[in-house]
Amino acid sequence: MIKRTAKQLAEMSGGTVDERYAEIEVEGVAIDSRHIEGPVLFVPFKGEQTDGHRFVEQALHDGAAISFWQNDVPDAPDVPLIKVDDCLTALQQLSKTYLTQVNPTVIGITGSNGKTTTKDMVASVLSSKFRVKKTIGNYNNEIGLPLTICQLEEVTEVSILEMGMSGFGEIAFLSKLATPDIAVITNIGESHMRDLGSREGIAKAKFEITEGLEGLFIYDGDEDLLKPLAGSYKGEKQSIGFDAGNQQILRDIEQSETAIRFKVGNGETDFKLPMLGLHNVRNAGIAVTIGRYMGLSEAEINQALSHLEMTGMRMEKIQGPNGALLINDAYNASPTSMKAAIDTIDMMAGDCYIVLSDVLELGPDEEMYHRQVGRYFEGKKMTLLATGQAGRFIYEEAAQFIPAHYFATKDEIADYLRPKLSDKTKILFKASRGMKLETIIEALI
Ligand code: ATP
Ligand code: MG
Repeated sequence: MIKRTAKQLAEMSGGTVDERYAEIEVEGVAIDSRHIEGPVLFVPFKGEQTDGHRFVEQALHDGAAISFWQNDVPDAPDVPLIKVDDCLTALQQLSKTYLTQVNPTVIGITGSNGKTTTKDMVASVLSSKFRVKKTIGNYNNEIGLPLTICQLEEVTEVSILEMGMSGFGEIAFLSKLATPDIAVITNIGESHMRDLGSREGIAKAKFEITEGLEGLFIYDGDEDLLKPLAGSYKGEKQSIGFDAGNQQILRDIEQSETAIRFKVGNGETDFKLPMLGLHNVRNAGIAVTIGRYMGLSEAEINQALSHLEMTGMRMEKIQGPNGALLINDAYNASPTSMKAAIDTIDMMAGDCYIVLSDVLELGPDEEMYHRQVGRYFEGKKMTLLATGQAGRFIYEEAAQFIPAHYFATKDEIADYLRPKLSDKTKILFKASRGMKLETIIEALI
């Protein structure tokens, strides 16, 4: 964060500060009193379990320059404080004001799957020409987004913000806070079905990203639910996808064991991505479109994509024993991304296995979604190894179409796979994070 005085921060956040402390200089924001680095503003939240106000003095002792203090919390100590009505609202207001001061090009990214991947790809592409700051990890909610904004520097030209949600109104709020110049919906899946009722509900909730948008809207044009919604956005827009009706068609796709090649729209550049999965072509297609929009050359975009480094466990390729290829995609899962994983391994040659388990948090239609994934194996060529309660539904359907085995435990899967590992073996692992499928990989290597 660019240096600000306590007085300035109080004005930016709608709070008040005692004259004695008005000139204190602040260079960042922290919410965890155990990780105070430098003269930051500490923001204590009142949680269900503990109240962050208990740690205010500790944070100041550890180097924080000043702290928020919520007016309804009694016994404020006589230390440097900015008094506010509500710490979260004040942080959000502070970040909104700060963003207009730095005034970068803002790119907002939402979607059920692929937000972080797309964010990383867009950041790599744009970094070849601009000074870019992106959301760190998964800091994509009402707290994470303001914190990300507060990290912008004087020189930042582009701010890439991941926007997550679990219910209606949340993306609208984030979008109005960040007022993006470019907004992206990567796809519509099934996560948060429990809160939003239907895929239509999810699409509407994601589409809220246009509420603060003044500029280009980019969306998954293969998703029928987004087409009518996109029609109601009056600004500039681009649909991306594999279907012929899209403005930016993803075409001429070729996948090898280590990389995937593709073209985007009318361009003839053969883009190369050092990772697997058709869904990553979608994500990279978005990065290409944004790169072109921001004036990068085809060569610059291709160069950036070919040197991508991705955050772990998203289609991560691991060298297994005897030259076997293990693909760890066990970071998280939805029915949509499971189908993408099935397509990925289906495009490979060799002895192919897919290890699947439960997709969590699908609500009352859980069984139906898992059975749909199972039926997606029709016409595919690979062996399915399934485990988990809901994994059983996948197995029951898939067994009609491909060789399939069900296991009560993950250990049994490791035991089954161990003698099968050779340089022709390819195994992809996918389930919700909570199923911890990566323990099978650890057992194998
Ligand atoms: P989270 O909600 O956890 O932040 P996210 O939207 O940031 O998730 P990523 O972390 O980028 O998503 O990817 C998670 C998984 O989703 C990947 O491992 C991959 O299997 C799948 N995935 C990524 N992109 C897409 C896409 N465009 N369509 C479908 N599935 C995808
Ligand atoms: Mg994410």
